[in-house]
Amino acid sequence: MTFRKVQGNDSFQRINYLYQISKHMVDKNPTIASYYGNLIVNVAKKNVLKIHPDIKRQICKKCRCILVDNVSAKMKMKTKNKSKLIEWICNICKTKKTFPADRNKDHRVWLEKPEAVVEVIS
Ligand SMILES: [Zn+2]
Repeated sequence: MTFRKVQGNDSFQRINYLYQISKHMVDKNPTIASYYGNLIVNVAKKNVLKIHPDIKRQICKKCRCILVDNVSAKMKMKTKNKSKLIEWICNICKTKKTFPADRNKDHRVWLEKPEAVVEVIS
């Protein structure tokens, strides 16, 4: 595999692409999914891009596998101090990840909006 140096929009497309592959591979081969998860983080770092929070939430912070409920992870809704939290437990490395649930948003829908995947750090 060869990678050319990409910047700006190319990197967005690249991250979107890697994200799609990773999501596609996760039920077949979680090791490959975390390989692509890793690439996403590296491409973003190299090009000083901020990964969209919705995508970031789906990447395990330890093994960088894409977290998909009932495939590579378990998702739980929790309530703490009256605020709703979403907890993910990675099936591969068992790392827990918790973030506040957005009340006005269906947290499953964000996956399907490719144009909202990445944003530039200003
Ligand atoms: Zn993990």
